[in-house]
Amino acid sequence: MFLVFDIGGTKTRLAISSDGKTIGASKVIPTNPDFEKAMEEIKKGADELSGYQKLDGISGGVPGPLNKEKTMVIGAPNLKAWNNKPFKKELESLFGCKVNLGNDAELAALGEAHFGAGMGKKIVVYMTISTGVGGARVVSGKLDENSLGFEPGHQIIVPDGEPCNCGGKGHLQSYVSGSGLQSLKGIRAEEIKDPEVWDQVAKYLSIGLNNVSVFWSPDIIILGGSVMQSIPLESVKKYFEEYLTIFKNHPELVLSKNGDLSGLYGALTLLT
Ligand SMILES: [Zn+2]
Repeated sequence: MFLVFDIGGTKTRLAISSDGKTIGASKVIPTNPDFEKAMEEIKKGADELSGYQKLDGISGGVPGPLNKEKTMVIGAPNLKAWNNKPFKKELESLFGCKVNLGNDAELAALGEAHFGAGMGKKIVVYMTISTGVGGARVVSGKLDENSLGFEPGHQIIVPDGEPCNCGGKGHLQSYVSGSGLQSLKGIRAEEIKDPEVWDQVAKYLSIGLNNVSVFWSPDIIILGGSVMQSIPLESVKKYFEEYLTIFKNHPELVLSKNGDLSGLYGALTLLT
């Protein structure tokens, strides 16, 4: 029996996999910003799901760049108190089994490439528009190699623009993510009903996707994350077609197939 997880800035999803290939019972708990308390809550949630059975392996995603050894998150803007805490070691001692960690957006990308909208495509880009913005490139089923991680949410789309919670300015995340919209509009993204606001968000997102396309040259761009449910895909496609003038053939733009479970599916590919 295996445990897979997907830790977001606000929610943590846990699931059991009996065979390491399929997702079984799952549950969602709030992500505790306090690292030590979060460890207790993950252990409790996992024990409830597994019926206190011994686990054969654990894998899952964290919302931010990891250190080179992939043992901890080191630059999570939405979960600052988790940075530089020995997450992998803590889980291994709590559960007594091997643990593999990845970046949450990377795992969702792998989940969509292997089990979702990217099946059969060679170069898959996944972008998540959620509390933050993340994304990754998968080539022939494997996460593309990288030195520091992929952070397309922190590309600059407006010079000297709105502050980003990473310390930068004018980043894509500041204009289209849940945390960015909350800062800009003073209300939660799901409470924003004005279609003009969402049209503007679609425009900013398309600028980001244009940049992603000219650098990453994907066959398909898969869009996921909670805020993507409010962003009109048709408007994103319209602006994207308008902005991306250098290529005759454009990458396909689609919504994720596995939705909130993409990260858990990706975590399956990390189980050993
Ligand atoms: Zn940023």
